[in-house]
Parts: sequence; structure tokens; C-alpha cells
Amino acid sequence: MTDFSDKILRWFDEHGRKNLPWQLNKTAYSVWISEIMLQQTQVSTVIPYYLRFMQRFSNINQLADAPQDEVLHHWTGLGYYARARNLHKAAQIMRDQYQGQFPEQFEQVVALPGIGRSTAGAILSLALNQHHAILDGNVKRVLSRYRAIAGWPGEKAVEKTLWHLAQTLTPEKRVADYNQAMMDLGASLCSRTQPDCAACPVEDDCQARYQNQQQAYPGKKPRKTLPEKHTVMLLPRWQQQILLYKRPPSGLWGGLWGLYEVQHPQQVKHKAESLGLGDYQIQELTPFRHTFSHFHLHIQPLLLELEASPNINAVQENSQLWYDLDQPANVGLAAPTSKLFSTLTLSPESHD
Ligand code: SF4
Repeated sequence: MTDFSDKILRWFDEHGRKNLPWQLNKTAYSVWISEIMLQQTQVSTVIPYYLRFMQRFSNINQLADAPQDEVLHHWTGLGYYARARNLHKAAQIMRDQYQGQFPEQFEQVVALPGIGRSTAGAILSLALNQHHAILDGNVKRVLSRYRAIAGWPGEKAVEKTLWHLAQTLTPEKRVADYNQAMMDLGASLCSRTQPDCAACPVEDDCQARYQNQQQAYPGKKPRKTLPEKHTVMLLPRWQQQILLYKRPPSGLWGGLWGLYEVQHPQQVKHKAESLGLGDYQIQELTPFRHTFSHFHLHIQPLLLELEASPNINAVQENSQLWYDLDQPANVGLAAPTSKLFSTLTLSPESHD
């Protein structure tokens, strides 16, 4: 055991979190679900989602057999939907290839959709106490500060240095506690903006603390200007029903239900005809901007108030839906769709 891990474990014994829902009756499945939910999301936000998810999908086969829409519905509000789609796909692989069991070999786990090196290490160490280092965002912050490792961890060379350090410092024994402690330390004391160094177990030999340069580590991602894109979203409405379509399984809002779009308002007429909407009155709703990691999307929403009942029964099964605002279907909605529905006096939960 290194001096570093020794201090971390002593701190964990005194201050570490040990009663979170996924820490009780731990299995690889429960740790997996929690680790995926916790990516980019705080513990307090995750807890109710985790409890609802586990109540509905209490094992791998239940998750694998569920319709994708239902899985996405249980993810509504957590954002980053690729996580839910990958959970579903991975559960189906485990059902079909591993008899519904979570595999225990690192290579098998890391080959599953949505599971990278750090998450695989976290699942196998936390659930099965296997010896694997982890390097999630919190651990990267602690280690880059501890050894004053300059540069953005998204750069290969910096990441390699951090992985090497993570492996060197991970103890042979009590790996589960150590990894949990490192994640906790990064999420609590060694926070992004206001690290509480005075309470930190490795304060004495932390380089960033010594230099009083905590904010300099980890290095920031080089800034780039995001491209601006524009779209027009259509809300064909008949009474309290709005026409949606199911987006392709991958790509932007993959597998979620969204509004039809055109590039330019002049194309609305053609689109409405192709959808067989009949006559309508157009009302411009307030435009807004939605930002993705790689571009800004300027959205002009147009409400099309239909003048006669559309042929609701003619919708293409599985790919179109007249979404009833009064009786919302259990489906995952693209973020702007949720947002627009809330402006129409409804408030389904919004997500990224
Ligand atoms: Fe983070 Fe401060 Fe601890 Fe260093 S001393 S690891 S900067 S909390």
C-alpha cells in the first residue's frame, strides 16, 4: 500500500459514502447502472432515477426485453440519451451472449456499448473487488492536482500520464474502497472551483496545493467557436394533439420522438402537404437556441393549428405519433420538443 492510498483509505473509512442506494446489496448490474447514470450527473440527481429504473428493470433480462421507448422514458430528464440506448444494447448482448449475467472479464466488459476503460474498471472493482485503476473526471482532477500534471486530460499524452499514475497509486488490497474514495474525494473536497484543501487527506504532498495553483489543474480544453445552425420546427396541432415522429436510432436525439423540421419557413407548405395535414393557421412561437457540445442550434418553432381533423389513424405505425398533451405517452422526447410542449401549457420533464 502506498502512502497515498493509505491516506485515501483512512479518509474513506471516516468520511466516505457507504449508504448510497447502489452501494447496498452491490452487484455488477447495479453498479453498472449507477456508474452510467453518474456520468456527467450529480449523485443527488441520480438517486430518484436510479431507484425508479431499478424498480422497473431489476435485472439484465428485464432491461434487455423492455421496449427501447420505455428505457428512454425512464431516462427522461437525465440527458445524454446515448447512455440509455447503450445500456439497452449492452443488456441485450448480455442476455444473448452471457446468459443474462454480467461478464467478469475486463476485456468482455470494456467491449460492451457505452463502457470505456474507466467505467469497466469501476464496475469490476466496486462490485467484484478486482484490481483495476479508474480515471473518471473526478479522479483526473485529483491526480492532475496532486502531481501538478499540466495539460488538458483530453490530450492523449496527458491522459496516458494520468493513467500511469492512477495505476501506480491503486493499492493491491481494498481496491473497491480506494476507487470509491477517489471518486468521492473528487466530487466533494477536490471540487472544480473551490477545493477544500485544509480537509484533504493528501494535502501535505499535493503539488497544486503547494503551488497554490489548484485552478490551473487539470488544464482546460482549448476553446473553439461552435458553429451556428438553424432549423424550423413544426408543431402541427389538432385539439390537444401534436404530430411527432421517431428519430433514427443514432445521431442527434437518436431513438427519441421529435418534431418535424424544415430548413426554411418557405418549405413549410410542402412539408405540410407531404404529411397530409390539410389547411392550417400558422403561429410563430418564440425562437430559442439549444446548445450541443459541437454546435448551437437556433430553433424557430411554428405552430400549425389544423382547421380540420387530420386522419390520425393514418399515421405510420412505429414512426409517427399524435402525442396527446393531456395524456402524454410514455415515450422519450427530444429536449426542444419537451421545452416547446411546456410553452403550450404542459410540462413534461425537459432534458438534453
Ligand atoms: Fe485537491 Fe486540495 Fe486535496 Fe490537492 S490538496 S488533492 S487540490 S483538495
